[in-house]
Amino acid sequence: SLTAGIVGLPNVGKSTLFNAITKAGAEAANYPFATIEPNVGMVEVPDERLDKLTEMYHPKKTIPTTFEFTDIAGIVKGASRGEGLGNKFLANIREVDAIIHVVRAFDDENVMRENGREGAFVDPLDDIETINLELILADLESVNKRFTRVEKIARTQKDKDAVLEFSVLSKIKPVLEDGKSARTVEFTEDEQKVVKSLFLLTTKPVLYVANVSEDEVGESDSIDYVKQIRDFAATENAEVVVISAKIEEEIAELDDDEKAEFLESLGLQESGVAQLTKAAYHLLGLATFLTAGEKEVRAWTFKRGMKAPQTAGVIHSDFEKGFIRAVTMSYDDLITYGSERAVREAGRLREEGKDYVVQDGDIMEFRFNV
Ligand code: GDP
Repeated sequence: SLTAGIVGLPNVGKSTLFNAITKAGAEAANYPFATIEPNVGMVEVPDERLDKLTEMYHPKKTIPTTFEFTDIAGIVKGASRGEGLGNKFLANIREVDAIIHVVRAFDDENVMRENGREGAFVDPLDDIETINLELILADLESVNKRFTRVEKIARTQKDKDAVLEFSVLSKIKPVLEDGKSARTVEFTEDEQKVVKSLFLLTTKPVLYVANVSEDEVGESDSIDYVKQIRDFAATENAEVVVISAKIEEEIAELDDDEKAEFLESLGLQESGVAQLTKAAYHLLGLATFLTAGEKEVRAWTFKRGMKAPQTAGVIHSDFEKGFIRAVTMSYDDLITYGSERAVREAGRLREEGKDYVVQDGDIMEFRFNV
């Protein structure tokens, strides 16, 4: 499954956030077959639709879908030049599907900034740049290697693929040399395929987490550090999620009622971990289909664009192999008409074949040969 890696300079609050994620973690009983690595935090994806379906179907069990965060270890500074731990940092990022970049946006004299400057001296843009620069340099090395090779083939053999790759590399190279991430470049659809095959770090989707002081989390729009992070993120079309990692750690200890009360007292609608989970889920192009019956109401994750047999395979590979058709209705129709029966009577219960592109919120029932 797809995972988002948590990165950031030392002392910005990564471990605190990752702790909160692990503590808020999915109830293991619901996912008996999941094996979780120690550097992975598995959380349930918040989804109000499950509550509604549970009210309607009174199932024995309600099971949310899950999302995995990966804690990225290693040394950041000098990673692109480095051996050992620095390389490990880059290698770990290479393995994740998206980057969650945690940035310090809280003042606290007791917490040192990495570069040995005063603890109180916080500089989000400088921090972002430090990390991004390592990724940019690593990408520049990969691009330069291919550039020389592909240039020759493109010139001498007029090979179509090489010509396309060369034009992609020529677009990316100056941007990296200018200290910017490759994700700031616009590509055509054809070019995007080539970009994928380059496995660069700075083309991975990213979102920034502004870790603000526990005293300011309710009024984060007025924090200057947050504004700086938002402005920078806008240049990469990236989203920003504002949290206080300290608060998240406290929230993760509370039961549902206490949590609601605590969030309200802070002026928040939902926890930072919940916001972050939703944002990361969308960043990766993930969506949810549902299954609903008296035994179980359940949410499942699929990648947007998947067709019905592939989504059946999310539940079980036999469902995909033996796929005949899907009987489906949209969650919105179910709510509008009030019951599955009413949806059918309205002619809104659909039979869909193997070419059906599943939509977020589809309630699916698969028919298959065993
Ligand atoms: P990491 O090195 O990025 O993993 O950072 P840590 O999570 O270990 O945090 C470094 C220090 O910052 C610790 O002393 C944390 O308690 C503190 N810290 C983390 N988040 C917050 C926050 O939201 N507010 C304040 N005041 N301190 C925080």
